[in-house]
Amino acid sequence: DAAVTAASQAFGNWSRRLANDRAAQLRRWFDFIIAHQEDLAKLLTMEQGKPISEARTEIQYAASFVEFYAEEARRIHGEMLPSHRHDARVLVMRQPIGVCAAITPWNFPAAMITRKCAPALAAGCTVVLKPAPETPLTALALAELAQRAELPRGVLNVVTGDAVAIGGKWCDDPRVRFLGFTGSTEVGKQLMRQAAATVKKVALELGGNAPFIVFADADLEAAVEGAIAAKFRNMGQTCICANRLFVHDSIHDAFVQRLAKRVGQLTVGNGLDEQTTQGPLITPEAVEKVQSLLQDAVASGAEIVTGGRPHRLGRTFFEPTVLTQVSGAMEITRQEIFGPVAPVTRFSSEAEVIAMANDTIYGLAAYFYGRDLGQAFRVAEQLEYGMVGINSTALGAATVPFGGVKQSGIGREGSHHGIDEYLESKYVLVGGL
Ligand code: NAP
Repeated sequence: DAAVTAASQAFGNWSRRLANDRAAQLRRWFDFIIAHQEDLAKLLTMEQGKPISEARTEIQYAASFVEFYAEEARRIHGEMLPSHRHDARVLVMRQPIGVCAAITPWNFPAAMITRKCAPALAAGCTVVLKPAPETPLTALALAELAQRAELPRGVLNVVTGDAVAIGGKWCDDPRVRFLGFTGSTEVGKQLMRQAAATVKKVALELGGNAPFIVFADADLEAAVEGAIAAKFRNMGQTCICANRLFVHDSIHDAFVQRLAKRVGQLTVGNGLDEQTTQGPLITPEAVEKVQSLLQDAVASGAEIVTGGRPHRLGRTFFEPTVLTQVSGAMEITRQEIFGPVAPVTRFSSEAEVIAMANDTIYGLAAYFYGRDLGQAFRVAEQLEYGMVGINSTALGAATVPFGGVKQSGIGREGSHHGIDEYLESKYVLVGGL
C-alpha cells in the first residue's frame, strides 16, 4: 500500500517531465548497470544458479532494454486525424497509463524486470515491482543502481514478500492502472481474474511449450547446435525452451546420435566456474517434477538415450538428458518441463508435424530448421505461436516484440510495441474554429 502511495505521488511530476529528461535519467541507469555488470552477473549466478557466462549475457540483455527505451522515450508520437467537421480538429494524445504493477519470475531475474520497468518509466509511468522470492537480490541491486542514477523517489518501488498478499493488494487497488506479469499460465489466469475487479489493463507473458522441428533437408549441424541452445540454456528453465523436438524420419537417427554426443559434452557444475555450461535447477521441487515427467514417459514407452538421473553433484543438479520414442500422449509433451530434458518425436510429413506442433494450449515460441523457402513460409504462417525462429533460436533482443498467443499471454514486450502497453490514447476534439 505504501509503495502504491509513493508511486501515485511520484506519477504527476514524472509523467510531466520532458521526454528528454526521462531519456537522460534512463540512460544514467543504463550506465550504472553497465559499470556494475560483473557484480550483477555474479549476484545473479549466486542466487539463481545459471552459468556465469549466461548471467553476463543476461545483464547485458537487461541493460539493453534500459538503453533502448531511453531512446524510445523521445519517440512517443500523438496523431492528428482527418476531422469529421469543418469547424473542428481531431487530435489523439498518447499519455502514460499511470501506476504500473510488475510481478516477475526467477528464471531471468534481471531481464524480466527491465523489460517491464524501462518502457513503463520511459512512457512516464511509475512502477511497483514484486520480484520472485528465489531471486530478490538482483532486483534490489538494479533498484539500488536506479537510485544511484538519481531516479526520483517513488518512481520505482520494489516490494518483496508474500506473493498472494502483494498481488491481491495491487490487483484490488484502483490507483494501480496496469498489471504486467511474467510467470506461469496458472498464476497469470488468477491475476487476470483479480485484475478484472478494477478493469485494469493487463500484459501477460506466460508459459510456453515450444516445438523444435527439424525437416529432412535441414543443416544437421546447425539444427543440433540450435537444439542445444534452445533446450539447455538456463538448464532448460526458459519460457521459450525447446520443449518438444520433432525430427523427420529420414534424419531422426543421425540427429539423435549427434545431439546425444553434444549433450554429453555439456559441463554440469557450480555456475561461478567459467567452464560450467549447466548449473543447478532452481529448487528440489523442480528436480522432482523433471523426474516424475521422465518416469511417466519411460513407463509409456520412451527411451533414455543419455542422462536421465539426478547428477552425482547431488542437491538440485540434474543430468542433461535426451529422450526418444516420445509421443503426444505423454505428460512430458503437455507440460513445460523446465529442466534439461530433450524429448524427441519422429514425424513423416509437414501437415502431421504442424498439427502436432499446434496441439497445445501454449503459443509462445516455435523453431524449425529446413532449407526449402516455400516450406519456410508455409510453416511459419501455420504455426500458432507469437514468435517463430527459422534456422535460428536467438529470439531475444530489446528491438523485437516478444510475446505469445493462446494461453501464453497477452501483449508484447520489447521494440516500439512494448512501450504501447504503457500508453493510453486520448481523443481530443478541438471545436469552434
Ligand atoms: P510463477 O510461479 O507463476 O511465479 C511468478 C511470480 O508470480 C513470482 O514472483 C511469484 O511469487 C508470483 N506469484 C505467484 N502466485 C501469485 C499470486 N497468486 N499473486 C501474485 N503473484 C503471485 O512462475 P515461476 O515459476 O516463477 O516462473 C516460471 C514461469 O514463468 C514459467 O511458466 C515460464 O514459462 C514463465 N515465463 C514466461 C516468460 C515469457 O516471457 N512469456 C518469461 C519467463 C518466464 P511466489 O514465488 O512468491 O509465489
